[in-house]
Amino acid sequence: MHDFYISQQIAREVIKKAKMEKASQVTEINIKLGELTHLNPDQLMFWLKQLFRETLASGAKIIIAKVPFLIKCKNCGYEGKLQMSKDYDYYFYFLPPFSCPRCGEQNGVEIKSGRECVLEKIKIRR
Ligand SMILES: [Zn+2]
Repeated sequence: MHDFYISQQIAREVIKKAKMEKASQVTEINIKLGELTHLNPDQLMFWLKQLFRETLASGAKIIIAKVPFLIKCKNCGYEGKLQMSKDYDYYFYFLPPFSCPRCGEQNGVEIKSGRECVLEKIKIRR
């Protein structure tokens, strides 16, 4: 159901943008999908195609780009991936405490990317 909910939000945004730009047709849709969201790209694609039926975006090419989970440490400046334990299905809702792989800092580590599921851009025909 989570997939469907997100798809609805994206679909709404696509149509809104298309109308704002006075499109007659949406030809391409680019979506960024964070690793931590644990959304299934195939599911997302499936729902979007359903939602776009008989809209400006029916027949649009849907491109989903995976965004890796990256962190940044304010203490030592480390930027990069963080090794997580495998069982992280629920991290989208709850992230366990994690520390910087280089210096061990726990408080100054921020998530740079990986939690987003956003519409990046669309291509249209007027
Ligand atoms: Zn660090």
